[in-house]
Amino acid sequence: LTNVNALCDEYIRLAYHGLRAKDKLFNATLKTDFDARLPAVNMVPQDIGRVLLNLFNNAFYAVQKRQQRATHARNTFPYAPTVSVSTKYLTQKGMPDRIEIRVRDNGLGISDAVKEKIFQPFFTTKPTGEGTGLGLSLSYDIVTKGHNGQIWVESTEGQGADFIITLPATN
Ligand code: ADP
Ligand code: MG
Repeated sequence: LTNVNALCDEYIRLAYHGLRAKDKLFNATLKTDFDARLPAVNMVPQDIGRVLLNLFNNAFYAVQKRQQRATHARNTFPYAPTVSVSTKYLTQKGMPDRIEIRVRDNGLGISDAVKEKIFQPFFTTKPTGEGTGLGLSLSYDIVTKGHNGQIWVESTEGQGADFIITLPATN
């Protein structure tokens, strides 16, 4: 049984420090909002950890790129890169209990055309060397096939993106 709040907290920091080690100028605000009622969940923590790391790496990349663009445009409008993670215990009458993990960034966001393809293997918009296009397709398989859960995206281009995972809370 895994403490998902602790797992999320560990991986958001891991991803942030990994990026900061390569880009000393990079700064982002991390926000966490963990549901204290979240039950421990039966999962393969290494696998869900990989999913979280993928989502956080993508989120930090998106805010890093937006920040770089704002800087190059000598944009006087203040941009505060922010990545957040929240959890929720979902209990609905007549539905099996679930937990929700939401990873949010205020980065570049995703156009509708790109949104349709992001879970396909090898789809990437990143330059060679910066992305393989395998993160989200692997994450999709781990969540859906491996854990009987769901993963989807909500995003407005230019504003940021939310990746939402739901997993069964019971075993
Ligand atoms: P990779 O990161 O190697 O490109 P992924 O499967 O992780 O592969 O992501 C596929 C594509 O989905 C990315 O290239 C990017 O276009 C888009 N994407 C994923 N996460 C985000 C995000 N948080 N914000 C904006 N675009 C994203
Ligand atoms: Mg990725």
